[in-house]
Amino acid sequence: MHVGAAAAPCPPAAAPGAGAAGSRLDFQCGACGRGYMHKKTLVRHQRLECGKEPSLPCPFCPHRTKYRSSLLTHMTNRHGDLMNMKCAPAPAPPDGSSPGLS
Ligand SMILES: [Zn+2]
Ligand SMILES: [Zn+2]
Repeated sequence: MHVGAAAAPCPPAAAPGAGAAGSRLDFQCGACGRGYMHKKTLVRHQRLECGKEPSLPCPFCPHRTKYRSSLLTHMTNRHGDLMNMKCAPAPAPPDGSSPGLS
């Protein structure tokens, strides 16, 4: 009797974990616990962000923030009235005096 060609083996299933390697946050900041995929991103976080005091103070209250956009949002939400008062239009300069040569 003949033993014919063996059936082709099924392709092996993908190894578990092989496809999700990119989403792991291997580098964690020891100070605040944030996770990063790349070491250089973590280093940049630690140098520029982590532990830094918010350096933009609100001119109207003790609130501080790290980002200018956040400060603008805060001021618009909390101090919209004050900002409108500060932005009052300047009075128009007196007009009509024309020291022209006659
Ligand atoms: Zn951190
Ligand atoms: Zn404020």
